[in-house]
Amino acid sequence: MMHWSLKRQSSWVQLAGHQGNFQVSKGGEVLKLYSELEAKCLDSLMRDPLRPFVPQYYGLVTRGEHCYIRLEDLLNGLRRPVIMDCKMGVRTFQEEELVKARTKPNLRSDMYQKMVKVDPSAPTAEEHEQKGVTKWRYLQWRDTTSSTSTLGFRIEGIMNDGQPCKMIDGSVQRDFRKIHSLTQVTEVIGSSLLFVHDHSKASVWMIDFGKTMPLPDSKEVQHGVPWVEGNREDGYLIGLTSILTALSQAISL
Ligand code: ATP
Ligand code: MG
Ligand code: MG
Repeated sequence: MMHWSLKRQSSWVQLAGHQGNFQVSKGGEVLKLYSELEAKCLDSLMRDPLRPFVPQYYGLVTRGEHCYIRLEDLLNGLRRPVIMDCKMGVRTFQEEELVKARTKPNLRSDMYQKMVKVDPSAPTAEEHEQKGVTKWRYLQWRDTTSSTSTLGFRIEGIMNDGQPCKMIDGSVQRDFRKIHSLTQVTEVIGSSLLFVHDHSKASVWMIDFGKTMPLPDSKEVQHGVPWVEGNREDGYLIGLTSILTALSQAISL
């Protein structure tokens, strides 16, 4: 789902994600609305070999009625940056969400409407008649409408100097193929790679850990094999391989 939003104050631009979740802060920081899961994950990442690939996490701060996660502003110091947000993995819902949704077989007309808007032929004859779909059905269908379920990633948005754009021209300097550690015992869902470059610098960052959670009973995942319900696989490395393939094809053109 593409949803653009632009909050320009200094160089900070919010490319995707929930509107109202972010506040611009002073001193090279951005503030993201607190989630316990994300704060815990960032806390672990600060002690993990993946730390260089993640924005620095500076703890929590309260602003008005809300608590926020303090993060390094990845656009700080860049001039007219080009940014791309790639949401990683073969699915964007947690297995828990699916299990919970299954216990609620009530029909959702809002989800039916969203489905029809994207593809009028997606609902079955029965769903059309009922003008509703279950959340369980909707969650699984949604990821099939983008490259998420086939390639293991989807582009959430690209911006060039604050303007949405379709092409990106920048090199990738960091090597993510060496992902180890925390990720082996963690279900990484809905997380993104944020590609950022300006005239002098290019980098790729791991962001958005709002749905990243430890696996139960020390189960391990490989991240590179298909998901079937119960195996907890997120397909992160399937997405990474697809991106690397696409980039190497673009470079050799
Ligand atoms: P989603 O709808 O994908 O769950 P979200 O509300 O959890 O989104 P994020 O994906 O974390 O939000 O961030 C949304 C956007 O904000 C990113 O695409 C990026 O443009 C910007 N952003 C997030 N974190 C940072 C950061 N540390 N520095 C600079 N920009 C950031
Ligand atoms: Mg996101
Ligand atoms: Mg998120």
